[in-house]
Amino acid sequence: MLLDALTRDMRKTVIAGNWKMNKTPAEATALIEEIKPLVADAKCEVVACVPYVDLGIAIEATRDTNVKIGAQNCHWAENGAFTGEISAAMLKELGVDYVVIGHSERRQYFGETDETVNKRVKAALAAGLKVIVCVGELLWERECNITNEVIARQIKLDLWGIPATDMANVIIAYEPVWAIGTGKTATADQAEEVCEFIRMCLKGLYGLEVASSVTIQYGGSMNDQNAAELLAKTNVDGGLIGGASLVAEKFAAIVKAADASTASY
Ligand code: PEP
Repeated sequence: MLLDALTRDMRKTVIAGNWKMNKTPAEATALIEEIKPLVADAKCEVVACVPYVDLGIAIEATRDTNVKIGAQNCHWAENGAFTGEISAAMLKELGVDYVVIGHSERRQYFGETDETVNKRVKAALAAGLKVIVCVGELLWERECNITNEVIARQIKLDLWGIPATDMANVIIAYEPVWAIGTGKTATADQAEEVCEFIRMCLKGLYGLEVASSVTIQYGGSMNDQNAAELLAKTNVDGGLIGGASLVAEKFAAIVKAADASTASY
């Protein structure tokens, strides 16, 4: 093991729900109210990344609780003629803590590239947001045995020009595209292998201390049944969860699994 298990206690465990385009404001209020008591004792960081229109009510509903609220994207410009877009400063002023950048659905359906991911990450960090940067290979890339090349390229480009001092506010989510919303989970060993590789890439860019301290999540059909095994891995410091984050009991079970996985550190 390149970076041994002792480094795990240097990192924050973060369980983040990605609600995608689900839940109207009224439905979001109901789900947040269900989630809050179930995760109130969580030792790990608990985040709900909700649709833009739900941000205001989600922030109000989680005030004085341990649940943090995130957005699912932001634009790179400070302001201007970008109809339909939202800036990082707008999110920050609203009280948003986190933002997901470069989710594979944005790359697949909305023309997101590593260049635009990089610009968005820089803008979000400059506004004082914590950023969850998503990387991951397509199925055919895994089958062609180029997973590591794809990941290394994404890490290098997505983090281009971001100084080590900003890395305390960056989380990397490893999300194999073939596992997102498909019910097909990477095995715990596959997840660990790539998360460890990501840490090696970070070590190359920023050195051992920063690499050991960055939270790396796994995402891709994580649920209440498989979370414990995935989160037990040394380099899997949390999860980015889509479908299962929409069911309060399932999301809370993942949070519990995360706490159990870190209990020994
Ligand atoms: C995601 O949206 O980031 C995700 C991992 O989705 P799911 O858990 O549904 O695969």
